Parts: sequence; C-alpha cells; structure tokens
Amino acid sequence: MRKGNRPGDLQDRNLGVLLNIIRRSDNITRQDLVEQSGLSPAGVSNLVSNLIAKELVIEGDLVTRSKGRRGIGMKLNEESIFAIGVRLARSYVRVGVFNINGGLMLSSLEPVGGLTVRETMEVIKTQISYVMETSGIELWRFAGIGISAPGPLLAREGKIALVSNSPGWRSISVSNIIEDEFGIPTYIEHDANVSALAEYWFGKAGEASNLVYVVVEQGVGAGILKNGVIFTGSQNVAGEIGHTTIEHDGPQCECGNRGCLEMYCSSLALTEKAQALVSGANLDGWPKASEITVDTVFALANEGDRSAIQLLEKSGYYMGVGVANVINAFNPDMIVLGDQMAQAPKIWLEAVRQTVKDRTIPELFEKTAIELSELEIDAGFLGTGTLVISKAFEKPSQIRNNTEEQHSL
Ligand SMILES: [Zn+2]
Repeated sequence: MRKGNRPGDLQDRNLGVLLNIIRRSDNITRQDLVEQSGLSPAGVSNLVSNLIAKELVIEGDLVTRSKGRRGIGMKLNEESIFAIGVRLARSYVRVGVFNINGGLMLSSLEPVGGLTVRETMEVIKTQISYVMETSGIELWRFAGIGISAPGPLLAREGKIALVSNSPGWRSISVSNIIEDEFGIPTYIEHDANVSALAEYWFGKAGEASNLVYVVVEQGVGAGILKNGVIFTGSQNVAGEIGHTTIEHDGPQCECGNRGCLEMYCSSLALTEKAQALVSGANLDGWPKASEITVDTVFALANEGDRSAIQLLEKSGYYMGVGVANVINAFNPDMIVLGDQMAQAPKIWLEAVRQTVKDRTIPELFEKTAIELSELEIDAGFLGTGTLVISKAFEKPSQIRNNTEEQHSL
C-alpha cells in the first residue's frame, strides 16, 4: 500500500530541492531559484524565509544575473550545522568535524591495527568526544554522526557483515552503540557508498547524478548513485563488484565464488604479482620481494621500468573488464576510480579506458566518462560528513528554527 504524503513531507521535499540548488551555486538569487526549481515565486519566497530563519542560508550582496537582472545573492551558511564523520578503516580510525560545505574543521587519526572490536569502539567514542569538545561547536548544531566502514553492511541493523579477519564486527550494531552514547542521529554506510556521495557533491561529477565510484584498494567495491541517491539493493550490499566473476574457473575467493574481479585488479593483487615476479627473476632496480608495495611499482613505472609498466597495464586491463561490466549493467553517466590505485601512473587509467573501449559498444563508451578521483580529502572520509548533511537536507524541518527559539526565550 502506498503511504500518503503528509504536508510536512512536501515542504521538506521543496526545502531540500532549494538547498541542493543553493549548494551548487555561487550567490544564487530568488529569481534563479524560481527558474531552476520550477516552484512559484511566492513558494520560493516562503521557503527561503524558512531557510534563513533556520540560519541554513544567508543573504549576501546584490548581484547581477543573466539578462541584467539584479537580486540578493544567497549561499549556505557555513556556521549553521555541522557533521561528525568517522572513517573506520582496516588499520585506523579517522574522526573529524565537517561544515555544511564539506569543509573539514578539525580531525584526529588513531591506528587500530591489532585492536579488538571492543577496543576499536572505545577509540571511536573517545575520538568523537575529543573533536566535539575541541571544536567548541554547540551540541544542537551537530546534525548527525556519519560512519563509513570497509565491509558490506547490513545497514538496517547497523552491522558490518564482512571485514576480512575481523568476524567480531558481525555481532554488534555500531550505529546504535554510537547513537546511544551521544544522542545524535547516527548513520553507517559502506565506504564505497559515501565515496560516491562525496564525489557527486564535491568532486568532478557535476550534473552526473548516475555515478559509480569504484574503490580500488586491497579489495574492490563500488558505490552506485541513482539520481544522486545511494542505490542500496535489498540488503544494502549492492555494488560488491569485487566479487563478480571475470574468470569462471579461476581461483577460489574467500567469498565462496571463483575468479572474482578483485583477485586480479586490487592493489593487493598487484603487490602479490610484483613479489612473485621478483622472486622468480633477478630484476635490476627492484627491492627484494618482501619490501615491495604498490608504491614501489608506481615509482618504478614512473621511471620507465618495463616490468612495472607491464604489471600496471595488466592490472588496468582487468579493471577495465570490471568497468565494462559495470557500464553494461548500470549505464552510468560517469565512473570514478578512487583510493589506492587512483594514485597509479597514467598508463593504468589508459589501460582501463582502452579495455572498456574494446569491450563496449562505441556509443556507450563515448558517453561514459571514466575518471580518477581528485578530491583533496579522502572520499571515504569526506563522504561521512556528506552523508550526514544529505540526510539533514532530506528533513530540513527538523533543524532547529533559531528565530523562533530566540523569540520564545
Ligand atoms: Zn569473491
């Protein structure tokens, strides 16, 4: 049965539409908002008053827009609401405070390699308390806490389904524990999903609202945005492209499948192939196998080392096979490749693009941008703040109305 819309839902939707236009524009006027939103001038005027009362939007100078028309420019108020972001990675926890424009106010990083799940949760709590206190921001201004985690998430329960070698995460609900501790709405998402969100809000995506962000590090996963919103699938496990088969009879993967994509194109696969190469031959300029990392391969390729270049071309080829599958399955506007392998020399991206070109129909290849992420802040971290702000923009009516508060005092 279809749920009826309450009047508040409609207002929230319209407020959200305006907030999203304002955040993408520099000093936008009410007239421009009317044109871009399709809402009536009276409606926009009303809604803007509401956003100003909540301090979410501030007015600036008189600006001249297209056709010589002048109006008061508006923008998001960076002092209004804030997000606490937590990136829970395999070896560290990074916590920070973001403003409404994704600006990082302060952050703190702690290694957690070798710690138990319980100890790691204590580190997260201590860091959140630390950044909240150090920021000096009033408590009510925190719109939420966003957490990104490396494994697939059973989001409804806030549980992390799979982090290699850390089965303990399955048994606890991370988001509930943090929400109970701090009394602030808490959201948890796969790091690939929040990365996609960060790229769409703050990266090179522009209007590309059907976006796939591929995280290529020790594992491979993807965050999929459909019209700018995270596509979760039934159990929030959509986007696990690292476990799609590219060789039906390939080696066994820990997920139970065979020949999974990430066994061929992850940073771990590259390191292992480089180590195997060095063990089997005496290569000039290469360190011994145990000292090789992806950075070693990148550096040697940059110096023109033929073996390193071939390893990267092969890795890019496999990534390209995976990307071609993603394009055929989802037909996105843009695919952004991020994390460790996005630091590789350009030949890697060229190999990815060439493979996609060879394996998709020409119209599809030409219309699908394949780019590297160039965000200044790590997308899996920036995205935690973006997640919180995007949730706040879905329900702006729940943000405290400051004018009313002051009048009622
Ligand atoms: Zn697998």
